[in-house]
Amino acid sequence: MDQGKIDALRGRPVNAFSHLIDGKSVPASDGGTMDVLSPIDGQVLTQIARGTAIDMETAIATARTAFEDRRWAGQPPAARKAVLLKWADLIEANALELAVLGVRDNGTEIGMALKAEPGSAVGTIRFYAEAIDKVYGEIAPTSDDVLGLIHKEPVGVVGAIVPWNFPMMIGAWKLAPALASGNSVVLKPAETASLTLLRMAELALDAGLPPGVLNVVTGEGAVVGEALGLSMNVDVLVFTGSGATGRRLMEYSARSNMKRVYLELGGKSPNIVFADAPDLAEAAKVAASGMFRNAGQVCVAASRLLVEASIHDDFVAEVVKAAEAMRVGDPLRLDTQIGAVNSGAQLEQNLRFVEIAAQEGGQIVTGGARILQETGGYFMAPTVVTGVTPEAKLAQQEVFGPVLGVTPFRTEDEAVRIANSTAYGLAGAAWTANLGRAHRMVRAVRTGVMHINTYGGPDVTVPIGGVGQSGNGADKSLHALDKYVNLKTAWIKL
Ligand code: NAD
Repeated sequence: MDQGKIDALRGRPVNAFSHLIDGKSVPASDGGTMDVLSPIDGQVLTQIARGTAIDMETAIATARTAFEDRRWAGQPPAARKAVLLKWADLIEANALELAVLGVRDNGTEIGMALKAEPGSAVGTIRFYAEAIDKVYGEIAPTSDDVLGLIHKEPVGVVGAIVPWNFPMMIGAWKLAPALASGNSVVLKPAETASLTLLRMAELALDAGLPPGVLNVVTGEGAVVGEALGLSMNVDVLVFTGSGATGRRLMEYSARSNMKRVYLELGGKSPNIVFADAPDLAEAAKVAASGMFRNAGQVCVAASRLLVEASIHDDFVAEVVKAAEAMRVGDPLRLDTQIGAVNSGAQLEQNLRFVEIAAQEGGQIVTGGARILQETGGYFMAPTVVTGVTPEAKLAQQEVFGPVLGVTPFRTEDEAVRIANSTAYGLAGAAWTANLGRAHRMVRAVRTGVMHINTYGGPDVTVPIGGVGQSGNGADKSLHALDKYVNLKTAWIKL
């Protein structure tokens, strides 16, 4: 990728977007719009529709009609596969344009955005497209006089609500298995990262997805998200975002039609470094990159660094060196390693966490402040806080920003105890050359994914999902298909 191509796209005017309902661009029922601010310079980038509950009801009714008339669900899996593969090709062909648009919208550094946004979405869509004509039903092991068949049927209308940190990647984790299984979908993107998902949905139409099968409604979570959650006409709700919103969605379900709710929530992931790690220099570099890429706005960010006491000071010095060497700034430069914080509100929240960490006895050994203020953008220096006790707020609550807390430990048991001392259980890592210890850590640390001697990078072949208050029901892998189907038994007397 060359910088010139990115620079050619960076200043391009962005037309205002409306909802996408029944294959058409539709404004809000009351004409409302909302400004989209770019976190790169704090300026207005474009407008999106500020959806109303009526807009959401229209989109859901459209999706329901599309499902009931079987314009998509009734197509053979091989035909759905062909459309999805074409969709992936179109996203790939427009990858740079999509990545730059996304970076201008949400601030992720372009190097990461290219891989994690269109790159990952393409891979995910291809994976489920290729899978769907190879998934079989089952024949039950019955007695000779009956035949028990287990069919997998699409659930109907899927409501998907996604966050702003990786909209295309996380969006594709929901859309690809939902659509491959034959469902219709209503997607509600985050207020501060709707643009690429709207473009992606337009490309799905170009690929041959029938109108009405994938609908996108933008606007405030408390308005359109709530209307989606409370709908009597939505069968499954899939969500990635904060625990507070996840809780609401469960309430909405209970107050409406008891739709199934699958939640991918936050984390406070422990990165555990033992003195016997095979390569401590590599571990220190990855401790920094595993925390600070995308300005720490990564659900699986390695936000708690647990270091064996015997190597603590030297190791922390290496992590600080690595953090200070990371280039923060213009996310549209290929050599930037840490882009913008998504919004002014998020930046303030990050700084507040630093303040509290200091009040609770933590030492800010690097960072801790807003930087590059003259750009108008929301940038923060990568921040390392040592002396964080397992009970401290920084150890217990997700920041979702570039703030790393460091806690020493003395024994393997103590490391496990600290690792498991939060309400979360999304991801973690252990660095050790001891094979037995590595496997013990995989078993003992309560998370959805445990890395050994690395951090990040699990691809679409393996699930991502949390335990505890990190959520339920994983995205990715063939297991994710289960969320989008009902099992139906046929019991046939022979
Ligand atoms: P958020 O919960 O504020 O928003 C997520 C989505 O929910 C947005 O689209 C928002 O508009 C919508 N929403 C907000 N209020 C709503 C309501 N009352 N009803 C319905 N929908 C509503 O979260 P966020 O700040 O956008 O994202 C950050 C969070 O997401 C972090 O906690 C992060 O850890 C988590 N996350 C988790 C994963 C994962 O895979 N587990 C991945 C990325 C992000």
